[in-house]
Amino acid sequence: MDKYTLLPEQLLYEGTLTESQFFTAAPLTEEAILRTHTAAYWSKLRDGSLSAKEARAIGFPMRPELIARGRVIAQGTLDCARYAFRDGVALNIAGGTHHAFADWGEGFCVFNDIAIAANELLATGEIERALIIDLDVHQGNGTASIFAHEPRVFTFSMHGARNYPTRKERSDLDIGLPDGTGDEVYLETLSNHLYGLLDGLRPDIVFYLSGVDVLESDKLGRLSLSLRGCMERDRLVLHACHERALPVAISMGGGYSERLAIIIEAHANTYRVASSLYD
Ligand SMILES: [Zn+2]
Repeated sequence: MDKYTLLPEQLLYEGTLTESQFFTAAPLTEEAILRTHTAAYWSKLRDGSLSAKEARAIGFPMRPELIARGRVIAQGTLDCARYAFRDGVALNIAGGTHHAFADWGEGFCVFNDIAIAANELLATGEIERALIIDLDVHQGNGTASIFAHEPRVFTFSMHGARNYPTRKERSDLDIGLPDGTGDEVYLETLSNHLYGLLDGLRPDIVFYLSGVDVLESDKLGRLSLSLRGCMERDRLVLHACHERALPVAISMGGGYSERLAIIIEAHANTYRVASSLYD
């Protein structure tokens, strides 16, 4: 949890961002929650009546503050999309909670921020098509399930084949990578798919989940990317979107390296790349 305060501090300290570039999100409305999550699930969250089993699947004890926090984070991703329409790119310091399904949460995810943002923008007519590029080391199973029958949202997940979740959902495009993949093969595989997707789909918005649990230092990841490789990954995605003038909303996603400094460095790199491209 410390990364959510340390990351903005670092970005301000080093001058990658200034205070005026930050925004604070309001809590997401119930209406927006219900475009993605079921009324049954939302009422259990709101009333604190999840069963012990349901709470265990999420992975932390459910408190009202956590629900409130989740609502702000999800609104943050929606706000990012709207800032991205204006500025080209915007980043949520948190988010990327892609293991949340329409009617349950798991893997530390309560609300699916990207799904919520995409559904809201579709409902308001702000977009007609979205592409989700999920490069967290874990498959975006909740996102894949939520959009399984939604042709206007294309879900692309590139992840560790042997990572959580054991039972994968079907995204529109899944690339499951073997353990120890490493920079070279990873970046080559990504570029083999990325450009075709962007050019073929011409989405109105790209949601990019930039989890840094792909690092070799990660306790949960298995893909063995270096810090440099992880940064090149971000550059590849952002450069391709920038070149095509496609707005990008970024959610940070996971990062579980032993040393917090490495997690901060990898997330900060995403901001540094964005800042260098979009200045
Ligand atoms: Zn992850």
